[in-house]
Amino acid sequence: MKLLKGTDYIRANREMLLKRAQALPRAPRLAVVRVGERPDDLSYERGAAKRLSGFGAELVSVSFPEDVQLETFLDAFGKLNADPLVDGILLLRPLPRHLDESAVIALLDPDKDVDGITPQNMAKLFMGASEGFAPCTAEAALRLLKTAIPDLTGKRAVVIGRSLVVGKPLAMLLLAEHCTVTICHSRTENLAAVCRDADILAAAAGKAGLVDGSFASDEACILDIGIHVREDGSMCGDVAADSFAERDVLLTPVPGGVGSVTTMILTEHLIRACERKMLQRSHG
Ligand code: NAP
Repeated sequence: MKLLKGTDYIRANREMLLKRAQALPRAPRLAVVRVGERPDDLSYERGAAKRLSGFGAELVSVSFPEDVQLETFLDAFGKLNADPLVDGILLLRPLPRHLDESAVIALLDPDKDVDGITPQNMAKLFMGASEGFAPCTAEAALRLLKTAIPDLTGKRAVVIGRSLVVGKPLAMLLLAEHCTVTICHSRTENLAAVCRDADILAAAAGKAGLVDGSFASDEACILDIGIHVREDGSMCGDVAADSFAERDVLLTPVPGGVGSVTTMILTEHLIRACERKMLQRSHG
């Protein structure tokens, strides 16, 4: 087994992104909107703040108590949309049940939607248009994959998971790269057999250790997108990495794989949002 590490992607792209950030007239600013204090949200926020600061970008945390009223929440959201110094908005989800997630998403300015959750950015992704923002995790998985296989044309790709956050957008990105894509989910029959046919297997089921040695042929490239925290605090993914130890596959590790590239893509999207705003200002 060979590891496809996030650090390889980050090292190769850091310098160019830094130059773009330094060319901006001010620090790009991301507003992270959080309801409550879920440990995984707080940990993602800390990771994002650290990555952004490495590029001179700022993260502003906008937090609300669990019982915040929809009206108050939407009002704050509207203010972030209108704030000229906020370039990107990241909404940490899922929201508590009493907040209507689709109403919140509908309000989000697509130009500030750096994690690609608005219908406008989703539509661009599904239309194969490159100028929108794709969800960061899906794009991170693709970018990391392309460091190992730059030309994906004709490859058979199997994606386990059909969520709007990871599975579907990743399938669309792979399709745009001319892969032949199969999407699997909890009702897929003979999952392991379907996966064994893949040149590229992306695991985003949210089930620790689901993908074992029987799921992949030798020479497959496996993207492990799942993130799980074990009782002892260590992390693992959807792939039982041990069962591939003696196999000739390429695997993204957890931690240090797709997750580590995700905040890099978030930073790139934020810089792009800020660049566009500056361009619009100079033209208008
Ligand atoms: P999700 O919304 O729960 O979706 C999981 C998908 O996997 C669903 O489509 C589900 O099928 C399918 N699935 C569940 N069990 C399955 C099984 N046994 N066999 C086949 N398919 C199965 O999860 P998500 O938000 O997409 O996240 C997936 C994983 O990625 C999670 O571990 C999450 O923590 C991780 N994640 C990582 C990052 C990162 O930066 N690396 C970011 C976001 C999420 P149905 O549709 O039929 O229910």
